[in-house]
Amino acid sequence: MPLVIHNTLTRGKEEFIPVDPDHVRMYVCGPTVYDRAHIGNARPVIVFDVLCRLLRRLYPKVTYVRNITDVDDKINARAAERGVPIRNLTEETYQNFKADVAALGCLPPTVEPRATEHIEQMKVLIERLVASGHAYVAEDNVLFNVPSMADYGRLSKRPMDEMIAGARVEVAPYKKDAQDFILWKPSKPGEPGWPSPAGIKTPGRPGWHIECSAMAWQHLGETFDIHGGGIDLVFPHHENEIAQSRCAFSTSVMANYWMHNGFLQVEGEKMSKSLGNFVTIHELLVDWPGEVLRFNMLRTHYRQPIDWTVKGLEESWKTLDDWYWVVGDAPGEALSGQVLDALGDDLNTHQVITVLHGLRNRAQAGDEKARIELAGSLRLLGFLSESAAQWAARRQSDANVDAALVQALIDARAAARKAKDFKESDRIRDELAGMGVVLKDSKDGTTWEIAR
Ligand code: AMP
Ligand code: ZN
Repeated sequence: MPLVIHNTLTRGKEEFIPVDPDHVRMYVCGPTVYDRAHIGNARPVIVFDVLCRLLRRLYPKVTYVRNITDVDDKINARAAERGVPIRNLTEETYQNFKADVAALGCLPPTVEPRATEHIEQMKVLIERLVASGHAYVAEDNVLFNVPSMADYGRLSKRPMDEMIAGARVEVAPYKKDAQDFILWKPSKPGEPGWPSPAGIKTPGRPGWHIECSAMAWQHLGETFDIHGGGIDLVFPHHENEIAQSRCAFSTSVMANYWMHNGFLQVEGEKMSKSLGNFVTIHELLVDWPGEVLRFNMLRTHYRQPIDWTVKGLEESWKTLDDWYWVVGDAPGEALSGQVLDALGDDLNTHQVITVLHGLRNRAQAGDEKARIELAGSLRLLGFLSESAAQWAARRQSDANVDAALVQALIDARAAARKAKDFKESDRIRDELAGMGVVLKDSKDGTTWEIAR
């Protein structure tokens, strides 16, 4: 089965050919650890987890690196605001992040390097860039000189004036060119700082882009296979990672394939704190099983924008309920060829889910092979972490339904019916249906269950 992926570098789908077929290497930009991750942050984590699981199925060895950005202005500001040491804030946030994404069914990457543990490698890169004329020192900053790289901008392919505006580059008098970006800057008193490279006497700290170049180099080498992240990172972050790494190593590529996930919005609107629709993974996990969040994410192809809605989550939960039920205790890792083909087509999880619906219908009609393939495919995608019995039990106990409230509504409905107020009794039935509760009336009274 060929694996084809959409490469942002060429804006087209290409067959994936690893540098070393015995060892596939992938880097994905990870979180800046100052606050709880929101559901948009979960998208690249889930998407590249699925890709990593697929790669592990296809190749003997995969090294997946997802970094932790633990030095950043936002971190300094938040730690000061909360009055806690920076290291406590970054450690606490990282532990929360780990727990959140584990609950979404994401396996830990092979390596999770921290920026603060790679300062030496950053300094080596910076020294090399200065020595080769790609970077210069100005007022205790080190800047990358963009015009020194003939083909800067190949990834984002943006016109120069847009790049300058897009980078929101500070107009600093010491810059040789408006596009030049920071590799190293002086630390203000009270900020984290390290001995500086390039002969600078005062302590300093790295810029964001150089962190990823250094960690990718350390763990994956000068060139590697896949680099991923959200679409917002194409420019300037990934463009600048490429500039740094390629100029430091005199290579023609940093990574051969650049993959970017589309953005997530909530109920049709951009997610933002000011709109009040900003939702963390942690908050969602209170109301929804992690697998439901994961499924809902994978219903949309990773490059498309995704509209995150409660309606979508309800549909996802219903589908998973049904599939857990149909799969039952089917064992194993068997896959259908169609599932592999769809995944191999630029990770088309939307198409995979269509195939799985077909398998589900055949399984329901008694086709045992289809049932086993449905189970194996769901496992490959990171589902079925619970047994069918566990899933059903949690559905009853935490399906967002308060059993006492349901009973009270059932009693109110019985009273309304007795009083021949059928409008009211129908209204109550609809209210319960809206909660996902289905009623069964019999001569012995009314029982209820969660809609499947
Ligand atoms: P940040 O912590 O903002 O650097 O983001 C971490 C990762 O989440 C990056 O790969 C971003 O591209 C991605 N990301 C942030 N917001 C969203 C969103 N609303 N939808 C999809 N991906 C996002
Ligand atoms: Zn990065």
